[in-house]
Amino acid sequence: MQMVRLIYVSRMTEECDLEALENILKVSRERNAAKNITGVLFYDPAFFMQCLEGPSMAVNALYGAIVTDPRHKDVTLLEYGSVNEREFGDWSMGFVRTIDLDTQTLQLYSKTGKLDPFALSSSEANNFLVEIMKQRKKERSGS
Ligand code: FAD
Repeated sequence: MQMVRLIYVSRMTEECDLEALENILKVSRERNAAKNITGVLFYDPAFFMQCLEGPSMAVNALYGAIVTDPRHKDVTLLEYGSVNEREFGDWSMGFVRTIDLDTQTLQLYSKTGKLDPFALSSSEANNFLVEIMKQRKKERSGS
């Protein structure tokens, strides 16, 4: 089956508190692994950016559920397309927060001085997520 990568951004609603966030992560990790979906959820108190990779039908169906989830709004697709390989194959749902990022990475992707994921192009969004997950991997391996 065709494999796709999808990246979207959205704004959190008041329904999304820390408990809801923990629940989203738990559900995502369990369900995504069962559907052969991998990816990353980037969280800022104001927004989400998420990448989903996997079989097209599974990713499309999940995105359909995510778009209508009341815990966020203004869901905006940044990238969607076929891919041969996964960027985030090690993660059923990797998780990174703005406060985990170093200043250099933040500055590189913050055109207006503040990180605004809605202003990123599809390739910038992809590069941003690849970069922050590389850093996460390094931190985890202790190098
Ligand atoms: P059910 O559990 O039957 O829920 C039905 C609908 O109710 C859901 O579609 C959702 O809109 C809403 N809902 C569910 N739980 C709550 C709650 N606690 N509070 C308010 N509304 C709720 N799911 C994944 O499986 N994988 C992911 O990678 C993933 N990423 C997400 C990223 C974000 C930013 C958000 C907000 C949600 C994400 N979800 C993810 C959750 C997803 O939207 C669905 O809730 C989940 O997949 C269950 O779908 P369902 O249709 O089986 O829902």
